[in-house]
Amino acid sequence: STAMKPQGGEHPLTVAVRVRPMTEHEILSGCTQVAHTVDNQMVVLLDPTEDPDDILRVNRSRERRYMFDHAFNDIADQEEVYQVTTRFLIDQVINGYNGTVFAYGATGAGKTYTMLGTQDNPGIYSRALNDLFLLVAKYEEENIYNVSMSYLEIYNEMMREDAKGGVQVASLSEVSTASTEEIMELLQQGNMERTQEPTKANQTSSRSHAVLQVTVKQRTRARGINSQVKIGRLFLVDLAGSERAANTQNRGKRMVEGAHINRSLLALGNCITALSESSDKGARTYVNFRDSKLTRLLKDALGGNCKTVMIAHLGPASFHFEESRNTLMYADRAK
Ligand code: ADP
Ligand code: MG
Repeated sequence: STAMKPQGGEHPLTVAVRVRPMTEHEILSGCTQVAHTVDNQMVVLLDPTEDPDDILRVNRSRERRYMFDHAFNDIADQEEVYQVTTRFLIDQVINGYNGTVFAYGATGAGKTYTMLGTQDNPGIYSRALNDLFLLVAKYEEENIYNVSMSYLEIYNEMMREDAKGGVQVASLSEVSTASTEEIMELLQQGNMERTQEPTKANQTSSRSHAVLQVTVKQRTRARGINSQVKIGRLFLVDLAGSERAANTQNRGKRMVEGAHINRSLLALGNCITALSESSDKGARTYVNFRDSKLTRLLKDALGGNCKTVMIAHLGPASFHFEESRNTLMYADRAK
């Protein structure tokens, strides 16, 4: 399993990959595992069309290797993924800086598992909130904090701040430790009601980007000091499935959705690439945030002194080879 490394270096962008376990269904239906981690940074993708008789793997030409800041395999647990990818952002946010975590990948690759998780294995949302409230409690003697939160979905380039039904988390002001559990319950409900309709490619494909935004306002209690308010923001984003519209046989409404999703993921990729380029060169590259609703919303989160983390998700089975290859290329381009 991946060693826990300290985080929060100078680099504004961290790219991680998480390979989920094979499902029972994938194993029973004869899929082989084609996505593997080699160590805690490298991912290998085998081409399932490779000659199965080539036992010695003489022809390794079709094996693709990718290096990232972190690679998590199927036994990496929720706490480890959180500690390595997100924990350092909590200190950032409480000190008045911005931080963003994106879960990227095809439908079924494990994005929601990482961000929201399950009742028994909560993901980044609740771990991040718990640590945030621990820090607030720790420093409350010195500072006055105000934590507020909003949850929204971007669907077909339209924002739904208050979807009918469960997604009532939108714009909660002044949330406290006591409400973490309540918030998680609402998010679980909200997730079930996320725009899910069957497509030919996926029975439960998620077509909206879900954004949990946490704002921490902080003011020192000390008198006489210029008590400026510091504002830090944490954006936790469960992106829409990245499978291409072209890969499905979608028509009409579904095809329009696919085009919108592609547009926003492309715009996001361009912004992230521009960010990492500008940090490499030590100069600012022009970043066009206006290309999509998603990047416009995340303008604060993607620029300035913000730290951004992308967690790309892979289904390991041969059945998902094409999607996994596309995801690895997207993540690789972002670095
Ligand atoms: P996505 O949000 O990308 O569409 P999900 O998070 O819903 O995918 O994952 C699909 C299924 O795989 C779910 O049943 C989920 O619980 C399971 N799963 C995903 N990642 C893991 C993991 N790392 N460990 C165990 N189960 C996982
Ligand atoms: Mg999901």
